[in-house]
Amino acid sequence: MEHKMTEQELIASLDEAIENGHIFVCYQPKVNHTTGRMIGAEALMRWKHPEYGIQYPSDFIPVLEKHDLLYLADIAVFESACRFLRNRLDKGQHCVIISCNMSRHDILHADYINRIEKIREKYDIPVKLLHIEITESSAVGGMELVSGTLQKLHDLGYKVEMDDFGSGYSSLNVLKDLPVDVIKLDMRFFSGNLSGRGGTIINAVVQMAKWLDTPVIAEGVEKVEQADYMKSIGCTYIQGYLYSKPLNAEDFGKKIDEFESEPMMPAIVLEKMDADKFWNPDSLETLIFNNYVGGASIFSYNHGKIELLRVNNKYTKELGMCMSEQEILKCDPWTTMDVENHKIYETTLQKAIKSNDEESCEVWRKLRSKTCGDDLMCIRSFIRLLGKAGDQYLFYEMVQNITGEKRAYNEIALSEKRFYYAGEHNKVFAWEYEIATKKMRPCSRCRRELGLPEILENYPEPMIESHLFPPEIADEYRDWHRQLAEGVPYLEKIFNLTDDRVPFHVRYTNEFDENGKPLKAYASATPVNNE
Ligand code: C2E
Ligand code: CA
Ligand code: CA
Repeated sequence: MEHKMTEQELIASLDEAIENGHIFVCYQPKVNHTTGRMIGAEALMRWKHPEYGIQYPSDFIPVLEKHDLLYLADIAVFESACRFLRNRLDKGQHCVIISCNMSRHDILHADYINRIEKIREKYDIPVKLLHIEITESSAVGGMELVSGTLQKLHDLGYKVEMDDFGSGYSSLNVLKDLPVDVIKLDMRFFSGNLSGRGGTIINAVVQMAKWLDTPVIAEGVEKVEQADYMKSIGCTYIQGYLYSKPLNAEDFGKKIDEFESEPMMPAIVLEKMDADKFWNPDSLETLIFNNYVGGASIFSYNHGKIELLRVNNKYTKELGMCMSEQEILKCDPWTTMDVENHKIYETTLQKAIKSNDEESCEVWRKLRSKTCGDDLMCIRSFIRLLGKAGDQYLFYEMVQNITGEKRAYNEIALSEKRFYYAGEHNKVFAWEYEIATKKMRPCSRCRRELGLPEILENYPEPMIESHLFPPEIADEYRDWHRQLAEGVPYLEKIFNLTDDRVPFHVRYTNEFDENGKPLKAYASATPVNNE
């Protein structure tokens, strides 16, 4: 009879389950999608109760964690993996690396590592055949404990894989603080749209992993399109149903015999370079990057192609609120420049490569976003080469938006001659409204022409006070913001704005998170006779 065991039943039968092999291990291959060879496998815990049938990790692991018993099961899994390898070694059969999971709770057991190390010695398994997976979320709250654990494992010669990378927000910070040997990216965290935000994050992670010399394994890959996408951005290691479900020891043994295997390698082997500093949290560079009063970015340059890898908050602000960080990272900088400006910028990169010193330039860029439409701005960049890897260069850039300054000097010539800039004739004011905080961020044009600050608190009150939204529509406009918070998808209406009551078409479009909760609204106001 299949039956989901209760908490009491699980706890009561754990010892017996370990002793009698009701808790056992399945192995899921990790495969190089390019060569079709196996690079290793993950050991996954299974529990088959003689009477109640299969119990699922998602059901019983939280129970064992809660009662602080998971470490016993994990040690049993580690021992099974060692036994499996010993068996094959004795028979002279081929072996692959087996990764065992170490949970956050195991880390809290000070003797956990000693215990598994004793087991490894008992079975006399070469340490290079065993990897340990720790999840990214273990790092949340207690970085010291995790980095101590990592250090201990490294001292003993174990390679460590960071599991479920990308599930937390602190991801990129965790990377620079924990020198793991392999990164596992779970595709299920980026469900569906690889062309959208998910793809951008994955791409950024794979790029950074390359700079860190760390191999990436994409996990939870079910479709060949996902595997092909990962391959196209330089990540060829795959674990998932596409290649194989987790297999019991016998079937997995056959799978090893069937597959050829190969060692795991970083995505690209790099020449030694100076980018390390950027991942060292104490370095001056990181400090500058995070605290620099202005905008800063890190980008790579390869055969004439530029890819933005990282931007700080101020960078987004400097370029105007119209674009989100994801939009900016996704945008090919060359598409924002005309031929002449492209040349100026690229020449500066060449100069920075030669001089190995800071070089600067002023370049006009036309940024396009879904809220503001086009906005033309002049950006002064200070650029410095960070390092070189093969044909790939890594640059650090600080930016200043000097549009206002420039316009005052040189108004007509630049906007009329060099650019087909429709913006001035099609005057759009745009802003973002963050629902949880009631903060409003105006676009660069709003800031320039209406003299607004970068952020308005307690929106829409400041606009009502200033009579931009005049008294007779104040309550209706306030009510719009209530409706947005309740999840209305969009709102639009012609309002007569300012003390002069000029008719504007005002629109709001709400953005929702994965759970359908409203996050942020994008708004615009367009003069009616201009539409
Ligand atoms: P995990 O470490 O992220 O393990 C990968 C999970 O994804 C496994 O689920 C695996 O069967 C599943 N999976 C693999 N490929 C695919 C795919 O293409 N599509 C989908 N939808 N799923 C796929 P499983 O075995 O149910 O394990 C769930 C979680 O339970 C694991 O996630 C891990 O956090 C935990 N777990 C499993 N075994 C152990 C263990 O021995 N020790 C510890 N501490 N935790 C374990
Ligand atoms: Ca895992
Ligand atoms: Ca995982």
